Amino acid sequence: AAASSGGLVAYADSGSDAAVEKPQLPPRKKVVVLGTGWGGTTFLRNLDSRFYDVQVISPRNYFAFTPLLPSVTSGTVEPRSIVEPIRRILEKKGGEIKFWEAECFKVDPQSKKIHCRSNVGTNLEGNGEFSVDYDYLVIAVGARTNTFNTPGVVENCHFLKEVEDAQKIRRSVMDCFERASLPFLNEEERKKNLHFVVVGGGPTGVEFAASLHDFVTKDLSKLYPSIQHLVKISLIEAADHILTMFDNRITNFAEDKFGRDGIDVKTGYKVVKVSKDAITMQNPATGDISVPYGMAVWSTGIGTRPFVVEFMKQIGQANRRVLATDEWLRVRECDGVYAIGDCATINQRKVMEDISEIFRVADKDKSGTLTVKEIQDILHDIYVRYPQVQLYLKSKQMNGIADLVRSAKGDAEKESMELNIEEFKKALALVDSQVKFLPATAQVASQQGQYLARCFNKMKDAEENPEGPIRIRGEGRHRFRPFRYRHLGQFAPLGGEQTAAQLPGDWISIGHSTQWLWYSVYATKQISWRTRMLVVSDWTRRFIFGRDSSC
Ligand code: FAD
Ligand code: MG
Ligand code: MG
Ligand code: MG
Ligand code: MG
Repeated sequence: AAASSGGLVAYADSGSDAAVEKPQLPPRKKVVVLGTGWGGTTFLRNLDSRFYDVQVISPRNYFAFTPLLPSVTSGTVEPRSIVEPIRRILEKKGGEIKFWEAECFKVDPQSKKIHCRSNVGTNLEGNGEFSVDYDYLVIAVGARTNTFNTPGVVENCHFLKEVEDAQKIRRSVMDCFERASLPFLNEEERKKNLHFVVVGGGPTGVEFAASLHDFVTKDLSKLYPSIQHLVKISLIEAADHILTMFDNRITNFAEDKFGRDGIDVKTGYKVVKVSKDAITMQNPATGDISVPYGMAVWSTGIGTRPFVVEFMKQIGQANRRVLATDEWLRVRECDGVYAIGDCATINQRKVMEDISEIFRVADKDKSGTLTVKEIQDILHDIYVRYPQVQLYLKSKQMNGIADLVRSAKGDAEKESMELNIEEFKKALALVDSQVKFLPATAQVASQQGQYLARCFNKMKDAEENPEGPIRIRGEGRHRFRPFRYRHLGQFAPLGGEQTAAQLPGDWISIGHSTQWLWYSVYATKQISWRTRMLVVSDWTRRFIFGRDSSC
């Protein structure tokens, strides 16, 4: 009995008689969580840690509220207001969870081990390396910034991913203003120092450009009156528009607003090189152009971390760009390994891969054809397992299965409303085109963390029956439904106390009132009362005194 540990087996240790009579409980399964960002932290907060022996590994001993990082670059919000120490989060769970500040550099799925390296201390060998066994591994390590191997980016550009990045950007903006003020510079040199370039017209780049513009025009212009007319902000985007993931109305509004604000939006330009003094970009019409700049922020999408790339090679995913999981967030062909958030993508099962099986299950009377009713009867299961079917019907404005059946029968055989396998295939031929990849957002990562924790909390009774509630594939009824993302809408703060929002049902809202919605949503979403108080008081302080421009 002494070999087991943890609260669940405590009674078995307490007396030898009891230990003989009561069945020995097995030791708790080891769960190892990599990462303390949106995915990992939400998983941990929702996990019932009494059931597991949990260890958390991350090079960062805090959670950072990334949506407010752009506000940190302008000093609207203080860095400490958006971070919550991970140990404080774990303490609220009863202190059962262990945390190691270290980076995982290798996963060994055969021996169910991960290899880590501490970045704060070394061991006897002097390298700070150690390994950890797992029964279940949750990979939630997020992504790195993608430079597309553009020369000079790593050396000369800022990224905006971590709290330190936001602090560095802020200091760098101030340095540019101080440099531009020096007495021995000529006008050209002052202009160069005050040229701020943002590469990437996605939500982060746009929000950063907007908040920089506010900072410069509302606050710094008062402190540097003699040079404020020399400031220029450029936003460079390779596509034809900025904010392409949003509705056109938002894109247009943003481009117009930036135009009025004097932010130079350069769409259709691809940055090909960054040197210490100039950024070189390309456009089919103009060829290469080089512009001098003072500071540049690179924000053009995300890439896979090197150790995840290695892991993917090990498990036969070498040809993929992002680590793939199934709809239960399990890494395929890799027992006990799960991946959530920005480091992973769900490979939605295609209807066409299972079409014969679906047909067989639906054809209850074994007649070789499907009636509308037969399809109707399993429609709910189909929707859960293959959400693309529901999206397809909606996109074609079909009101139900009768419409779908009619679409496959064509005009000739309208009287018979039964489908044979060929017609069934034809009816569903295009549905897989509706498979949607989820965006790399905090919203997705946290919903996945929550979903996975709930699955883990129910794992015991599901172990015999691991696949969830659907009958179509496999034998038994699946215990868990596949993960389903609920989009709650997305904001695009555009500066000047104006925000655009795209809410579910393509409801668009733009302006000052949306800014207030933004304030209230982000106040509510704070991870603790402490950070909520701090963030709200930062906002209040900014309303009264303006942004802090001390460094
Ligand atoms: P992350 O939150 O990045 O967490 C990754 C964790 O893994 C970190 O703790 C990291 O330290 C750790 N880690 C890294 N390498 C290792 C390793 N080798 N071993 C162990 N641990 C490791 N999303 C929204 O929905 N709304 C927004 O408004 C929004 N704004 C954003 C603004 C900015 C500036 C940025 C950068 C992102 C924004 N996002 C937003 C996106 C959102 O932050 C990400 O989608 C989200 O953080 C992804 O969560 P994650 O858990 O996958 O990764
Ligand atoms: Mg995470
Ligand atoms: Mg995060
Ligand atoms: Mg993802
Ligand atoms: Mg039939």
